[in-house]
Amino acid sequence: MDLFTNHSLTPHHTFGLEVRTAFFVEIKTEEELRQALSQCTPPALLLGGGSNILFTRDWPGTVVHMQLKGREVISEKEGTVLIAAGAGENWHDLVLWTLDQNLGGIENLSLIPGSAGAAPIQNIGAYGVELTDVFDHLEAMDLQTGEIHTFDREACRFGYRDSIFKNELKGRYAIIRVFLRLQKDPVVNTGYGAIREVLVQKGIDQPTIRDVSEAVIGIRRSKLPDPAVLGNAGSFFKNPEVEAGQLKMLLTEFPNIVHYPLPGGRAKIPAGWLIEQAGWKGKRVGNTGCHAQQALVLVNYGGATGDEVWAHAQTVARSVKEKFGVELTAEVNIL
Ligand SMILES: Cc1cc2nc3c(=O)[nH]c(=O)nc-3n(C[C@H](O)[C@H](O)[C@H](O)COP(=O)(O)OP(=O)(O)OC[C@H]3O[C@@H](n4cnc5c(N)ncnc54)[C@H](O)[C@@H]3O)c2cc1C
Repeated sequence: MDLFTNHSLTPHHTFGLEVRTAFFVEIKTEEELRQALSQCTPPALLLGGGSNILFTRDWPGTVVHMQLKGREVISEKEGTVLIAAGAGENWHDLVLWTLDQNLGGIENLSLIPGSAGAAPIQNIGAYGVELTDVFDHLEAMDLQTGEIHTFDREACRFGYRDSIFKNELKGRYAIIRVFLRLQKDPVVNTGYGAIREVLVQKGIDQPTIRDVSEAVIGIRRSKLPDPAVLGNAGSFFKNPEVEAGQLKMLLTEFPNIVHYPLPGGRAKIPAGWLIEQAGWKGKRVGNTGCHAQQALVLVNYGGATGDEVWAHAQTVARSVKEKFGVELTAEVNIL
């Protein structure tokens, strides 16, 4: 187990802020994790790729870097294959590995940064697919006892960018292995308009999972800033959901409001659209701001502090609330 003191976190999170941790430990096995959790200086922070985190301060305790690797086919059943991935596997590398074996199900989730172990935490999703669609179960270590528990899909209580690990069980478990059930004879999901457009442009009418993955990668590269170039953590806020009554009022005042119907007359409104309408798209404030192509992505133009980014996020949320009466909540974990 590699232990470092007064360690820089700058290369370990995608906002690229100048932050440090008192202790930093690299975990490669279950036993190392158990040992580290029982001996480390608190508070402990489990870290994957750091792509869904905003540090507003130096970390006073121990950052536990989840590097448990391994991916394998576990079993096959009725045209499906159960695969397992260690928490420290890079998510996109895992997607590419499944494509190599012609296993379908996560191609729409190509190029999402971060680790396999963090994927269930917020039920990652993109382009019409969420982790829950292919999720079978996971194994997690109880941080108090070191025992391994299994959680099936129901136990994870997945929701929109949400799971039990962000709520009742927040900070209680370290996810160590994730099991996904993929299709041997995949049916691709091209329901998302932008994917269809790319496939049409390329003249592909019988797309394979690799075609879909490549389309998604192309779209993402054209729309989202690369954290290696411009620090960010992807969508900063969740897309808010409004009740039927509030939607009616909003439509009266803003007839062009973009919204996607949900059951019971409720609707989801793209947070990026609200932020753009509030005038923040492409606006820079000090060393931070809302990205020019996707207002929902807050960026570090270089030298930003976590406090500065968080203050800007709160200003943006307040102005959306004033204009539309709609509350924005952070998708990113604020630490
Ligand atoms: C450019 C960009 C684009 C993005 N696009 C998307 C997208 O399309 N869809 C989407 O859903 N997300 C997206 N994200 C957000 C992010 O990639 C995902 O949330 C990802 O799952 C985070 O993984 P991570 O390993 O980086 O987690 P981290 O940021 O390291 O951690 C996130 C949280 O999970 C906890 N955690 C990490 N690993 C474990 C573990 N093994 N056990 C228990 N807790 C753990 C951490 O303590 C923290 O609370 C994007 C981010 C960026 C930067």
